[in-house]
Amino acid sequence: PPFHGGDGIYRSPRPPLTLPPDPKISMIPFLFANLSQTGQTPALIDSETGQTITFSQLKTQISNLSKSLLNLNISKNDVVLILSPNSIIYPISFLAVVSIGAIATPANTHYTVTELSKQIQNSSPKLIITTHQLHHKVKHFDLPCILLTPKNPSFTENRTWYYSDLVNDSPIKLKSKRPLVTQSDVAALFYSSGTTGTSKGVVLTHKNFIASAMATTSDQEFYKEPRNVFLCFLPLFHIYAMSAIIYGQLQRGNTVVVMEKYDLDKMLSAVGKYRVSHLYVVPPVVKALVKEPEVVSKYDVSSLKEIGSAAAPLGKEMMVECAKIFPKAAILQLYGLTETCAVVSMENARVGSHHSGSTGVLAPGFESKIIDVDNSKPLPPFHKGELLVRGPMVMQGYFKNKKATEETIDEKGWLHTGDLGYFDDDGRLYIVDRLKELIKCKGFPVAPAELEELLVSHPGITDAAVIPFPDAEAGEVPVAFVVRLSSSSISEEEVQKFVAEQVAPFKRLRRVTFVDCIPKSAAGKILRRELKQKFIPKL
Ligand code: AMP
Repeated sequence: PPFHGGDGIYRSPRPPLTLPPDPKISMIPFLFANLSQTGQTPALIDSETGQTITFSQLKTQISNLSKSLLNLNISKNDVVLILSPNSIIYPISFLAVVSIGAIATPANTHYTVTELSKQIQNSSPKLIITTHQLHHKVKHFDLPCILLTPKNPSFTENRTWYYSDLVNDSPIKLKSKRPLVTQSDVAALFYSSGTTGTSKGVVLTHKNFIASAMATTSDQEFYKEPRNVFLCFLPLFHIYAMSAIIYGQLQRGNTVVVMEKYDLDKMLSAVGKYRVSHLYVVPPVVKALVKEPEVVSKYDVSSLKEIGSAAAPLGKEMMVECAKIFPKAAILQLYGLTETCAVVSMENARVGSHHSGSTGVLAPGFESKIIDVDNSKPLPPFHKGELLVRGPMVMQGYFKNKKATEETIDEKGWLHTGDLGYFDDDGRLYIVDRLKELIKCKGFPVAPAELEELLVSHPGITDAAVIPFPDAEAGEVPVAFVVRLSSSSISEEEVQKFVAEQVAPFKRLRRVTFVDCIPKSAAGKILRRELKQKFIPKL
């Protein structure tokens, strides 16, 4: 069908998606469907040590850990929270949890204890998988833990086990029966603020992950030699890394080199060392590459075939500049969200100066509508409106939050993304603005409602509003407008410090402006657009 039929629906021009028809083919059987071809090839590599796990070792480790989880009485639908920096055993832990029908909920490692407690309260995990370094953040929740770090004899805690003991080579005897896991079972809860309010658990099923993996990698030829090598320094607690890179690429038989965290030199050095062919990044990384071509020139980057950027907008000019530094690589943009298990649209990998600033065409399996913001009527190409998407990657809803689910997914299954965009007449999608409250700082999501709640909890503050402020490095940073109690003399620095003590560093307020009142609608909703128009040019 044409990408835009008379029914106001845009369809993916890519070949259709055919999901495995057997519902018992859940994420793990699907991942290893081609083990006879991939068995001895590297699946995961630790960028620091070079430690390599082949596809067959990956299968064994997932199976061993899953048996240990069952023996620890973790059963189907139990939630397991993962709080760990990137490592090659992070994805193994995630996959072992989902292999038994339990639900993995990755948490942001920068979170403070208060922020973590919200995710813990909402998701009620039965077990936490963490490291020595982060254990202090979760220890007072009094939950059993698995530590991913090497054994430390001086560290003794009750109900705490080491990954290395649970995944040993000797066959592990299973005390109970393995649960049957199907595609409709829930695999994970990734937290996102959605279009409004504070953090909510995005319910993603095995089917969502399988569909997303197939769609994201649909342009790649299967097992083409040499195999593609991806580098993952993006945090594994975010859907972009876990779905588009880890699960998506492993399912395609590609190798993923895992790096603990982003560092420009380390990233470029890993590209040379492991002959990385694909780099999935966020806009600040592209900006760093463009700003420091002399750093790039110190390394062998000849293996790079593609640099893909997502999570926040990347300007056309930046892509053109980046293409000059990597003339042999395709520089492209992807668009997606947690609620769609990552990728919605992506450009075809082509080398050359075709950069349009678009986020590419819809991934297979997606349908989309652009609706008029005022009257919800579907719009033709080149007309801006709210982007709606539908497809097998769309979440089931927000965990234990019927109201937010109904506000986001309508009765016809359309997910309202809260993004403003348009299609051109070749089916390319352009994201031009955000209608939703969300702020993206260095690609990390910041929910204004959460910071506003925190601000008004201060005895000297009666009202507050938080909006994004453009920033050359981070893309956007949160800034606050605060109404002080008449008797209060709290200063800008004091407000900033009050917030900084309670939130992850990327959520810290960069500016605080005192105002007499916060503009609100009759229904009490903060008029963010008015604040932006009135104050941003003056700041
Ligand atoms: P998250 O759920 O954290 O992945 O955030 C999803 C949001 O990030 C989207 O709804 C967009 O607002 C934004 N986003 C992701 N990719 C892009 C892109 N390529 N261009 C513009 N905005 C993007």
